[in-house]
Amino acid sequence: VDTSPPGQCIFCRLVAREIPAAIVHEDELTITFMDIGQVNPGHMLVATRRHAANLFELTEEEAGAVMRTSRRMALAAQAAFPSAGLTLLQANGAAGGQTVGHFHIHVVPRHEGDGIELTWPRK
Ligand code: 5GP
Ligand code: ZN
Repeated sequence: VDTSPPGQCIFCRLVAREIPAAIVHEDELTITFMDIGQVNPGHMLVATRRHAANLFELTEEEAGAVMRTSRRMALAAQAAFPSAGLTLLQANGAAGGQTVGHFHIHVVPRHEGDGIELTWPRK
């Protein structure tokens, strides 16, 4: 896990516009952007704006907000790919397969026979 301190981790820098990203949605508590190493077209990450390392560090309000945003992104993906399914994934700690130590949910559009193996830690 990348354990850079608050403000210096890759996703904090992305929130601060210090590094470029394809940002698709922002609100008071969450930010959504395209995953740079997407496993399928439309693979997004829904992250907290605040640096929370993982699920254990979320406030109740953030926990609700990230799921509400994930649902909205899922609906947008469904509109883009009407026949698609969708997988949500969320990793915590090295043992859980987390590589970026700033909370995020993967929103992955899926298609019959896409052959993707979503294993965490990732192969
Ligand atoms: P994790 O394994 O922590 O759940 O997933 C971290 C994800 O962040 C990976 O899917 C990886 O492709 C993505 N990622 C890592 N660095 C960057 C970056 O600088 N920009 C974007 N957009 N995604 C990143
Ligand atoms: Zn951060």
